Amino acid sequence: MSVGTAATDSLPARALRVIPGGVNSGQRRIPGLTDLIVTGTSGATFTDAEGRVYTDYHSAFGPPLLGHNDPDVQRAVAEAATRLDLTGVAVTEGEVTLAETLVDLVPSVEKVLLTSTGSEATFHALRVARAVTGRRLIVKFQGCYHGWHDAVSLNVISSPEAVGAPDPISTGILPEVLAATLVLPFNDPAAVRAAFAEHGADIAAVILEPIPHNVGCLLPDAEFLTTLREQCTAHGSVLVFDEVITGFRHDLGGYQKIAGITPDLTTFGKAIANGAPVGALGGRADLMEQFSTRPGAPAFFAGTYNGHPWVVAAALETLRKLREQPVHEHVFRLGERVRTGLAEMYTRLGVPAVVTGYGSVFVTYFMAGGEPRSYDDLLANDANLFIGYRRRLLEHGVFELPLNLKRSHISYAHTDADVDHLIAATELAVQDAIK
Ligand code: PLP
Repeated sequence: MSVGTAATDSLPARALRVIPGGVNSGQRRIPGLTDLIVTGTSGATFTDAEGRVYTDYHSAFGPPLLGHNDPDVQRAVAEAATRLDLTGVAVTEGEVTLAETLVDLVPSVEKVLLTSTGSEATFHALRVARAVTGRRLIVKFQGCYHGWHDAVSLNVISSPEAVGAPDPISTGILPEVLAATLVLPFNDPAAVRAAFAEHGADIAAVILEPIPHNVGCLLPDAEFLTTLREQCTAHGSVLVFDEVITGFRHDLGGYQKIAGITPDLTTFGKAIANGAPVGALGGRADLMEQFSTRPGAPAFFAGTYNGHPWVVAAALETLRKLREQPVHEHVFRLGERVRTGLAEMYTRLGVPAVVTGYGSVFVTYFMAGGEPRSYDDLLANDANLFIGYRRRLLEHGVFELPLNLKRSHISYAHTDADVDHLIAATELAVQDAIK
């Protein structure tokens, strides 16, 4: 059927005619920005259809830690693409080398399976936890996002009335599936102990972002992480760290290495391949051996594109650069400069603000008080100002995603001059937004 495209139609108008809402992810429908069409990316920037260049702190929700269009990653992918594409037969050398690299780097990882996305990795982590334990319940935490599948489609960014109640992210999920996921407050060891005291024999897995970056940044208390480890061990439940954001961005060994906590399973994505579609699930050999990639094992695992040679090449080159170049040193230093500079500026302006983050990730909540500990604390954030200053940043050639509670990222391609400009532009944008 013809879609009746007129030569004069704008791209967003054409998109709306053939793509629901005009975008391919619910998270890309940004109110007020439907006309922003990105036509090019390079290093720390992207360019729109009018030729305007923006310094990009959104970074596609986090993958391009090396910066956009990293020439070495591009070369590695091009080289792989001239040599090999998908055959769907056995295994390639790149897949083995990538698995060996992850086993080398991440403390808890003894065996690895590759997926194409982070959602697939968390899906399979929970499936195998249920397969191994024969149990029903999953525990997740307010403010954590683990992808789009049913078991975890609850309570990421809830309205105040919905906090603590079942709050599905989607319709179309069986009520019994939603009921099998318990949602607890983050950083609350007593709530964890109480949940295990009541349901311990029925909890298959506990899954968390060790730092819930899907609501900006909630830093975990050591006691909280220790309690999770202790309770999971005591009750025979599987502890899953979802390091899709934190993995490789914060440390080559993941946040687990920084925290000194060893989960049973870990999920990866995003920064592992600088933007190529790669996810991974790794962990204890006895759990990973339960996947049907081993003959006779019970937990079905498959995927036409798993371990595709082109994206594996991207991951191998990304990890090589992360190991051999001072990427973390650079992005941590700039992250610190951003946080310090912004905090000083807000103090000078007299705007109540909490500037936080970790390493290359930063976020400002517009509220009084100290470091937030849980999603509840973030309800005090002034969402209008949060979104308002980011909309105004566009006029200064800076892009931070104008959606409430979204974090921003620094890459290896960002410079000190970018940071200076970010701080100066933010001051102007905030002053304008509070007028
Ligand atoms: N886990 C976390 C912590 C995430 O932030 C995301 C995506 O933002 C996912 C899982 C899902 O990954 P993907 O979008 O690649 O399916």
